[in-house]
Amino acid sequence: MLMQEEREQIVEYGKKMSAAGLCTGTSGNISIYNAEKELMAISPSGIDYFSTLPEDVVITDLEAGIIDGVRKPSSEWALHTMFYKNKPGARAVVHTHSMYCTTFAVLGQPIQAVHYVIADANADSVPCAPYYPFGTVELAEAAVRTAGDSNAVLLGNHGLVTCGRDISGAYNLARNMEYIAELQYRALCIGKPNVLSGEEMAEVMERFKSYGQPDSKKTGY
Ligand code: 13P
Ligand code: ZN
Repeated sequence: MLMQEEREQIVEYGKKMSAAGLCTGTSGNISIYNAEKELMAISPSGIDYFSTLPEDVVITDLEAGIIDGVRKPSSEWALHTMFYKNKPGARAVVHTHSMYCTTFAVLGQPIQAVHYVIADANADSVPCAPYYPFGTVELAEAAVRTAGDSNAVLLGNHGLVTCGRDISGAYNLARNMEYIAELQYRALCIGKPNVLSGEEMAEVMERFKSYGQPDSKKTGY
């Protein structure tokens, strides 16, 4: 089967995303981009993550022409392809409707540097794109435009999108964003959170470059 490994990873991470409570029902979607083949593997539209099989994953090019697969691709294929076209290092994209990120997306407010782990997004503030209907090119364009250099962006009244250099990077960033959004929410409930300065965040980003094992090529969490 074409892109068997990527198909299996989409199935595996779909289950993880669902089990971690990052999406309810069939909301959210995942893709992996194979730069050598110039093809994307994307989750099918509207299929429960625990029922999705590798053969349900759809392979498309970046113009969304279906190359292989019997299912309809995720309605957010434009959102996913827009990230690969505009972010040269992106090899995986994760979209969730996770509760705390979406709470700030409903308010149209960014996630701020209330915790240093936001550096994982390569940003000290994760912005919120204006609302557009799901599955539209307008939403995809607004998301990438609003993200800028950030690897995470909120979608107004909708959810979160992250990208990474592999699926574990994009997925872990989605989890970390939810963690920070929950912290920000909780801190706001009982007071006024301290927000780390640009200087403090620049130092964290520098330290993240050598975080983890020397041979792991891992930057950030
Ligand atoms: P799909 O099931 O088509 O991937 O759509 C879910 C979603 O979150 C739309 O924004
Ligand atoms: Zn969505």
